[in-house]
Amino acid sequence: MDKEKTAKYVDPNNARPGHAYEGVIKAIAEEKVCPFCPEQLANFHKQPVEIDGIYWLATKNQYPYTCVRHHLLLIHKAHIEHVEELSPEAWVELKEIITKLNRGREIAGGTFMLRFGETTYTGASVTHLHAHIIQSDPDHERYREPKSMPGVIARVG
Ligand SMILES: [Zn+2]
Repeated sequence: MDKEKTAKYVDPNNARPGHAYEGVIKAIAEEKVCPFCPEQLANFHKQPVEIDGIYWLATKNQYPYTCVRHHLLLIHKAHIEHVEELSPEAWVELKEIITKLNRGREIAGGTFMLRFGETTYTGASVTHLHAHIIQSDPDHERYREPKSMPGVIARVG
């Protein structure tokens, strides 16, 4: 399916307010480049690529959410924005990479998050299709006050 790409590569409205990441996303928006496309990734992402697959690469999130033990990104290598554009082979590789990452870190529980398409509906800050693997840190002091936990924007309702 040939989906029309969004008119933007990043959405500063969805960057964490007051966080350094907000400034990064605003600067990228002014440059009008996609920070996750292969030719740009190294300019914006300084974490090493841990798994370099055919369709995906896996790396630590350079700007992890607070209160997490692990925050990994799986970035589709070609610029697509919708799940409908993923090939069956890419889905298989995604599962294989998630399994490798989880086993390598002994992640007994976590969250897999994949937002796609127009960021107004998702809360994502980068339109280039990517997924998150997040394991929260139950020992983090902020868990002692659950109401103070920072939210992650993933609009679901
Ligand atoms: Zn891209």
